Amino acid sequence: ITRVGVFTSGGDAPGMNAAIRAVVRTALYNGKKVTGIYHGYQGMIDSTMFDMDSRSVSSIIQKGGTVLKTARCMEFKTVEGRAKAYENVRAAGIDALVAIGGDGTFTGAEIFSREFDIPVMCIPGTIDNDLNGTDLTIGYDTANNTVIDAIDKIRDTAASHNRLFFVEVMGRDSGCIALNAGVAGGAEAILLPEKETAIDELIEMLEHAADRKKSSMIVIVAEGDKNGGANNVAKRVNEKFDYYDTKVSILGHLQRGGAPSSADRVLATRMGYSAVNELLKGNTRATIGIRGSEMVTTPLEEALSKKELKLNQDLVEIAKIMAL
Ligand code: ATP
Repeated sequence: ITRVGVFTSGGDAPGMNAAIRAVVRTALYNGKKVTGIYHGYQGMIDSTMFDMDSRSVSSIIQKGGTVLKTARCMEFKTVEGRAKAYENVRAAGIDALVAIGGDGTFTGAEIFSREFDIPVMCIPGTIDNDLNGTDLTIGYDTANNTVIDAIDKIRDTAASHNRLFFVEVMGRDSGCIALNAGVAGGAEAILLPEKETAIDELIEMLEHAADRKKSSMIVIVAEGDKNGGANNVAKRVNEKFDYYDTKVSILGHLQRGGAPSSADRVLATRMGYSAVNELLKGNTRATIGIRGSEMVTTPLEEALSKKELKLNQDLVEIAKIMAL
């Protein structure tokens, strides 16, 4: 390996910059050159690449988003698109890749690496914490902290007005953010994509809470909840449960932004460092992960073919007891 290409792809996540920085500095430390590729796979096709040195990644560890930008690139899903990308990658002298992103990014990397026999290592970057081969993804901790901050503020106004709030948080197929934020924010109920909660069951919980004279009630709804999001849940609850003041708050994209937490910066730094070292050891077509406090790798084929249940079942039970 003489030159490592690094890019971010799919949805952005806080901590991606810390990972880029670690990839660049670890590669340089080992005497390798580094090319930064803008806009993920699109940048390979458009050849928007630049030579990176140690100073290219100065003062980015604390920044949210990604300095390399990101994109969703349909052309890369075609054989012709990937052939064009490979031509440009080869012309730039890149002979190994580090891809930072989610499931789609990993799928693209796996296909590209097999097609053109180029070593690739992936780093899991997404706030949803829904990737296999790792306990944690980059951005998840920061997103949890952002959501908690919002819930605390909503609690202040909810308690002042005796309000019932439905707060929708990100997570299309993963309830990790909803569960964690729900526990940390003291939610009265948490609706998760992994587990269907009937509206009648939810109403029962809320009636029970109202009987106990709770001054405010917060229901966390993951966006992938089967009842169809916070607006729908609120509407259906209101049809049967006459609580005098109900509000909905959809947190949306603010959950993706902000300065990465200390935990995300450290995780991203360790992952970037490991990704380069694994490539130098000859490992390829794998994703970096963390299990407990150990860095591990999992072949992409394996990571993409199964579905780990990330939701902590104990915590689901604990959340119910804490809402009493
Ligand atoms: P997030 O979890 O935030 O959505 P992601 O990496 O899963 O992140 P996607 O948009 O699904 O985001 O994928 C990123 C990019 O990876 C796509 O825009 C596309 O360029 C590439 N990609 C995804 N699937 C494939 C595929 N089957 N073949 C080739 N490339 C793919």
